[in-house]
Amino acid sequence: MNDKIALITGANKGIGLEIARQLGKQGMIVLVGARSLPKAEEAAAKLQAERIQAYPMELDVTNRQHIAYAADRIEKEYGKLDVLVNNAGIYLDHEGTDVDMMRRSFDTNFFGAYALTDSLLHLLKASPEGRIVNQSSILGSVGTILGNDMYGKASAPGYTASKAAMNAWTAQLSIQLGDTPIKVNACHPGWVKTDMGGSGAVMEIHEGAETAVYLATLPGDGPTGGLFHKQEPLPW
Ligand code: NDP
Repeated sequence: MNDKIALITGANKGIGLEIARQLGKQGMIVLVGARSLPKAEEAAAKLQAERIQAYPMELDVTNRQHIAYAADRIEKEYGKLDVLVNNAGIYLDHEGTDVDMMRRSFDTNFFGAYALTDSLLHLLKASPEGRIVNQSSILGSVGTILGNDMYGKASAPGYTASKAAMNAWTAQLSIQLGDTPIKVNACHPGWVKTDMGGSGAVMEIHEGAETAVYLATLPGDGPTGGLFHKQEPLPW
């Protein structure tokens, strides 16, 4: 047991649930964010059955009231936040290319993560070693998709653009937080067997959580302002 508090968004299933599990097994108190309270409660109960200190949190990242409530609750209950994993994401690959699809992709994958982080920054600053992990994707790595037709053609535009925006913001935020102990990095989990990744993916969920867990537990001399997969930096 340690006194670290971690909030993971989209933690009711997939990679997010596994990140919560792995951080919880390291002794952190994990706040299990999910779009609805029943989903959060169900996931938290699974983790509690594994002797993890997990607590449900209703947190649709596109809902400003949920964000305000989460910030208020964390402040009152803990007075700080040590780890924020912006994991919630959507991949609207079958919804064409129109601007509504772009907006919805950005609402969750970028604006949701941005708004939540902005509301929690004072609590991350109250931690002696705050860590922010932005769950991105190699499909948002412009340097990768420009040189690789497979990634370029496979990716949905809303997903790619929203994850690239997340990457740019990660770099900018790391500079803004340069005089604090906070480390902020973006993460590519790999192609993982989840509802989003599909059954043809190559990585198991426990392996897909490892990069985010590494970035959430970086030591004081660890990197900030990068995009990582398995401890290796990727191009922006
Ligand atoms: P899943 O589809 O299994 O899980 C996505 C999670 O995000 C779900 O818990 C979902 O909730 C939640 N979510 C979606 N929208 C919101 C919202 N508005 N507010 C809160 N939660 C929300 O996908 P993965 O576990 O595979 O993906 C996790 C992250 O990893 C995503 O950001 C994804 O882009 C990224 N990623 C995944 C890859 C893969 O191969 N799987 C590859 C690269 C990146 P609900 O259950 O309610 O839908």
